[in-house]
Amino acid sequence: MSYYSPSIEKLIEAFERLPSIGNKTAARLAFYILNASNEETDEFISAIQNAKNNLKYCSKCFNISDTDPCEICANPMRDSSIICVVEDVKDVVAMERTHEFKGLYHVLHGSISPMNGIGPDDIKIKELLSRLMEGGVKELILATNPRVEGEATAMYISKLVKPLGVKVTRIAHGIPVGGDLEYTDEVTLSKALEGRREL
Ligand SMILES: [Zn+2]
Repeated sequence: MSYYSPSIEKLIEAFERLPSIGNKTAARLAFYILNASNEETDEFISAIQNAKNNLKYCSKCFNISDTDPCEICANPMRDSSIICVVEDVKDVVAMERTHEFKGLYHVLHGSISPMNGIGPDDIKIKELLSRLMEGGVKELILATNPRVEGEATAMYISKLVKPLGVKVTRIAHGIPVGGDLEYTDEVTLSKALEGRREL
């Protein structure tokens, strides 16, 4: 049974649905919002709405962006002969933070995971292949997470891509096995990129 009024309860429930927010944190956030000025809450609401309405996926790399193509794909200073393949949009941000990588990206939006019923067709592998078919790509860096699914995905892509004559490399294991690119510090990630090996 709840001691809160229904409106507060509803707000707490909404926060609780967010990833890694437990009941106590949800309650703290809800009360923060209740005590905030109208101006502040309006800003918060419109930031959410604005992001939902304006953001789209880049039709080339599937990064999330305000524009299509995204800023990275549209940047003539980036080296379009190297593509770094990552699982998630957040991994693009992690790689960009290293300031090491000057090529383009391809976001798979997941990894192959038969246990969870996710096959190669459920992630953006076909789209990656058609990008490579267009030519001009010399190296494909597989920067999927060093977990079972990430490794399996890297192996799968490597087998598909090698016959196309593109050099396929895998980032080194400076990243702890079972780790997440997103939570890897810039130095470790730079080292992993530097020490990539050919598959
Ligand atoms: Zn893009």
